[in-house]
Amino acid sequence: MEKPIYPSPYMRITQGYMTGTHIDSYAIDDAGSDSGIDFIVAPYTGVIKKIYTGDANEVWLESSEPVIYPDGTVDYMTMMFAHDNDVSNLFVGKVINRGERFYEEGTKGNASGNHVHMECGKGKFTGSGWHQNSAGYFSINNGKNPTECLWIDDSITVLNSNGYTFKRIEPEVSVPDIPIEDIPVEDDTPVVEEPVIEEPTDTDVGDSDNSDTTNTDTSVDVVKPKLIFTCKSDDIYAIELKAGQKLYLEN
Ligand SMILES: [Zn+2]
Repeated sequence: MEKPIYPSPYMRITQGYMTGTHIDSYAIDDAGSDSGIDFIVAPYTGVIKKIYTGDANEVWLESSEPVIYPDGTVDYMTMMFAHDNDVSNLFVGKVINRGERFYEEGTKGNASGNHVHMECGKGKFTGSGWHQNSAGYFSINNGKNPTECLWIDDSITVLNSNGYTFKRIEPEVSVPDIPIEDIPVEDDTPVVEEPVIEEPTDTDVGDSDNSDTTNTDTSVDVVKPKLIFTCKSDDIYAIELKAGQKLYLEN
């Protein structure tokens, strides 16, 4: 499942939520790296549900699958973006992949400089997508605080977070899949399953086809490996080894 990424690679929040024209809404404005027009990436893989060209070229993007909210909640998410000057590249039903540049800052509608106005909504697209709030502005349905919806990672340059704290996506810790049976053994290193104590008897010799090879072990100077770990169950175990250390396996 995807973690919705903050859609502006250069976070510069010029107006926060619940203030100014964002009164009674969780809308934020982001002006990106500079006063020019920066692109906006899709926070998650989603489908465009509505485009409203009568005002600020508002576009609603609904996640194709449930996403992971920073508090661990799993649910669909719908976001609304506004002010792109040209949305002719978009259409309802178009699928946008996470991280894809699909929208731009602009000045369409009520905007004094290039920026994107964006709002997060919890769940799927509902009704007409928005409602008129107590201040008379149209705001996304089921609006939710963006810091409770969006994540950041190293791809986001934070220029001005407006004092907000966004949860960071920690890099995935990859555990190397070590096929233990494939670890090479140096030729001069005897791997001893059990010290050979009993001399082969006459009845042992000739019992099996490989009896010749088992007899050669008796001439090797046997070093009892120091057992440091006993598997309690069948599983994959990761072991950190320093250069020169040897790994002995004992059944
Ligand atoms: Zn705004």
